[in-house]
Order: sequence, then structure tokens, then C-alpha cells
Amino acid sequence: MADVLIVGAGPAGLALACTLARSGVSVHIIEAQTAPAPGSRAKGLQPRTLEVFDDLGIIETVLSHGRLAIPIYSTDTATDTTHRIGKPHEPTPSTPYAASLVSPQWRTEGAFLARLAELGVTVSYNVKFLSFHQSETTVTATVLDNGEEKTISASWLVGCDGGHSSVRRAAGIPFLGETFEDVRLLVADVHVEGLDREAWRMWRDGKGGFIGLCPLPSTEEFQLQTLLLPDERPDLSSLPYIQGLLNAQSKRNDIILSQLGWSSLWRENVRMVATYRSGRVFLAGDAAHVHPPAGGQGMNTGIQDGYNLGWKLAAVLHGASPALLDTYEKERLPVAAGVLSLSTTLLNDTISTVTIARDDRTLQLGVGYPTSSLSRDTREVHLRQGTVQAGNRAPDAPGLVISTQSSDATVCRLFDFLRGDHFTLLCFTETVDVAPRPWLHIKTVHVTDELDASGHLRAAYGLSDGAVVLIRPDGYIGLIAQEGCQAAVESYLDELSG
Ligand SMILES: Cc1cc2nc3c(=O)[nH]c(=O)nc-3n(C[C@H](O)[C@H](O)[C@H](O)COP(=O)(O)OP(=O)(O)OC[C@H]3O[C@@H](n4cnc5c(N)ncnc54)[C@H](O)[C@@H]3O)c2cc1C
Repeated sequence: MADVLIVGAGPAGLALACTLARSGVSVHIIEAQTAPAPGSRAKGLQPRTLEVFDDLGIIETVLSHGRLAIPIYSTDTATDTTHRIGKPHEPTPSTPYAASLVSPQWRTEGAFLARLAELGVTVSYNVKFLSFHQSETTVTATVLDNGEEKTISASWLVGCDGGHSSVRRAAGIPFLGETFEDVRLLVADVHVEGLDREAWRMWRDGKGGFIGLCPLPSTEEFQLQTLLLPDERPDLSSLPYIQGLLNAQSKRNDIILSQLGWSSLWRENVRMVATYRSGRVFLAGDAAHVHPPAGGQGMNTGIQDGYNLGWKLAAVLHGASPALLDTYEKERLPVAAGVLSLSTTLLNDTISTVTIARDDRTLQLGVGYPTSSLSRDTREVHLRQGTVQAGNRAPDAPGLVISTQSSDATVCRLFDFLRGDHFTLLCFTETVDVAPRPWLHIKTVHVTDELDASGHLRAAYGLSDGAVVLIRPDGYIGLIAQEGCQAAVESYLDELSG
């Protein structure tokens, strides 16, 4: 019997599995397909997701297979004018990953799978979830394992099985929203001659039609995306058909497609659940919310669902209060609702306007949980003038100097201290002694003038001397206390202990 059974080895399930496994939780992850899925699919990784990858130990692999800040050019074929979409985002001391990264989804999943293997977890392929029943302590799933019906029991079950989620259906959770059959995107991986790989290019006819070709880093392919007219009957497996769409939309005939690989038809679906949980069963990723690909939000939101739920399940399995799990839906459901609205607006902009606006909200660095019961600030409201607030993402800070008597000084960043499954206590004060708790893994960083010689840490947090900041394992600020710090930290952790 595993601690957690995860259904679905897409990005959400893999992110959850990594987050749990690094905390020593036993994970069983099943996948209906017989092998990892091919295809570029979600190719946009947002800066906040890159920070998650930094924490989970896969950032180097992901960066090596992707390209940051790829320029996007849009040509209006009616007027033959080209302009660049969006503005470049440069890293800052508090935001080391400022721009989106383009990388095929199968590469991202490959990075997760390699990390999981390091953590001793392998995906069980060709195992299809059918149904479940649960008691007060256990959930038992019936599965088809290589064609044979079996049961798997676990303390918790998480459905990360995509938009058509069988776990969601088995739990009786409705998927509320709309499907727009008329809004369809053809997406295909192709080889391209006659176009350089320096930029993502789009052609628009000014009447709502567009076609795009984005070079896929670490491959020789491009991802082609085009919006189909409502009466178009697409032939997804025909290269001449797709070439015809490109020629007609781009008004060019010197760009030659070949070697059609993965292709798919996407229909506009805007749906989400009203609850992320039924007893011992949770939903994450597309199983809980689906939205247009515009703005590259879907996969990122699913990964961050898994990351949010992962540390909470691990803490509860190690003895924290089960009430902690209620905060998963409270924190993540409003994020999904915001993403549904943002991505739908961006898709409508893409369809209806000549200028495609990129919105800084798509970077997801502003995602936070200020109204969560896990976000606490003991300062008087009028004193909360620092740079950061409880519930914000914890900003990074470079130039931290660690000196020991026995070796040369080492320079590192705050994210180096945060990496791992622990809480981090930043003490801008003398010292706070935290009483041990069975579920608690905590590291304390004393912010001295020697450590923060560059001043980036104090600048990023903007707090006066005497303050403490408690950072959660998922890199969000749980507590800021300015006075009575010892008692504030103990009271915060006592509540998590239940
Ligand atoms: C054309 C297109 C472009 C996109 N572009 C972007 C983008 O640029 N950026 C972005 O962020 N998102 C994008 N998305 C969305 C993105 O692909 C999804 O949001 C993402 O894959 C969802 O991840 P997931 O893990 O929740 O679900 P999935 O990736 O769907 O994974 C679910 C897994 O569960 C498995 N499964 C299903 N049923 C069962 C069962 N009964 N038993 C066992 N296993 C099961 C499936 O086989 C699958 O592997 C795009 C989507 C499309 C279609």
C-alpha cells in the first residue's frame, strides 16, 4: 500500500510525484498509455514554473532543452507589416527567471521522469484507473493493469488524469463550463525549410485568421498552430493539406514543410470544478481546470497544483494537521478561475485583434495566496509597508556570503537555501529557537551584515531589524512577524500541527 496513488503521468502528476518523493513519501503513479506521450503540446514554461523546477532539482535539464525569451513576430498579411509581440523581460536580483522558456512538453516530462528515477520512483504504464471506493483511512482503486483487473490501495488518491478525468467522474464532481465547437486550433510538429529558427513567427490576415511557426529548441522541428474556420474539415495527417493552410494564411510559398510528426486538433473548452476534493481523493491539473492555450497557462497551472498539494500531503503524512489539506482548494481554485478568465481573454484577443497583447500576468510571478489561512502577518496594517507581504512568492536574493573558519567563503543565492522540502526561517533578528515537531523540517537563515553584504536580501524583503519571515516549502511566505517573533512562529507552527 502506497501513501499516495497518482492517476496520470502528465505534468501535474509528475510534479506531484517529485514533490512527494523528495519528502520520503511512498508514491504509486499509474498511466493508461504504454509510454510517455509524444508531441510538443504545451511548449511555454512560465517564470514561476521555472522557480518550481529550480526547487525540484530539474532546472538545469529543462534550461538545456529550451530557449528563454524567444522573440515573437507577427505579420499582418493585409498590410504586410511586422511587429514584435510583448516586451523582453530581463532577470533582476529578486527574479532570476524573468522570461518564459519554450521547450516541447515531452522534454519537460522527460526531465520530471529522470528526476523521479533518481528519487526511486518509476511510472507504471499501461495501468488504467477504472473506479475507487474509500473508507475513513484508505482509498482503494480498481485498475486495469496490462488488461488485468486489480486493486491498489493508498492513504490518498490524486486524479491528475487530464481533461477527461475518470477520477473526477468517479468522484461525481461536475466539470462546469462550456465547450465552443467552432473554435478549433490545428497543432502539428513539422520540419521547415525557408525559415530561420531565431524567432516564433505568426501571420495574421486581419480578419481573425492566423498561423504560427515556433522553432522547438533541442529538436529540428517547429510547432505549427493555426486557427481553423468553423466550416473547415481538417485532415490532421496530411502534409499537403497543412502546407496549403500555411501558404494561404502566410501569403508565402517559399516556406516548405516536411516530416509531419505529432498533430492534434484542439477545441475551445473552458471548464473547471467547484471542488478539488472528495474525502481522500483530490484533483490536480487539467482534471480540475481546462482553458485555451493562449498565454501558455494550462500546464504551468497544473504543475503548480501538484507542487502545492505535494508538500501539504507530505506534511500530513508525517503528522501535521489534516486541516492543512483544506488549504489546497482554497489556494488553488481561485488561481484556476483567474487563469480561465485570462486565457479566454487572450484567445479572444488573438482571434479578434491584429495586435496580440502579451500580459505580464501570464508569467505567474504574481500568483500568491494573500487571503489564505496559511498567510499571516503580525504587523499592524499600517506598518505592512515592506516590499513583501504574507502569501507572496518569496523573492530571491543573490550575493549571500557564507564564511566558515575552515574554508573559503562561498557566495550563493537565497533560492539555494530554499531548495528542498523544508520551511525556511529568515531571521532579521537575534535568534528564534523553533521547537521540534515530527512533521517539521526547518532551516534557519540568520541575516547578518556579513551574509547579506550586497544588501540584496534586505532590499528584496524591505523589513526592519527584528523581523522574521517564515517561507513555506513551496516558496511562498507563510508568516511575517516584526515583534514577538518567537511566539508568532510557534503559534503558526502549532496551528499546522493541529
Ligand atoms: C494545442 C495545445 C497547446 C497547448 N499549449 C500550452 C502552452 O503553451 N502552455 C501551457 O501551459 N499549456 C498548454 N496546453 C495545455 C497543456 O498541454 C495541458 O494543460 C497539460 O498537458 C495538462 O497536464 P496534466 O498533467 O494536467 O494532464 P495531461 O497532460 O492530460 O495528463 C493526463 C495523463 O493522464 C493519463 N490518463 C487519463 N486517463 C487515465 C486513466 N483512466 N488511468 C490512468 N491514466 C490516465 C493520460 O494518458 C495522460 O498521460 C496546450 C494544450 C494544447 C492542446
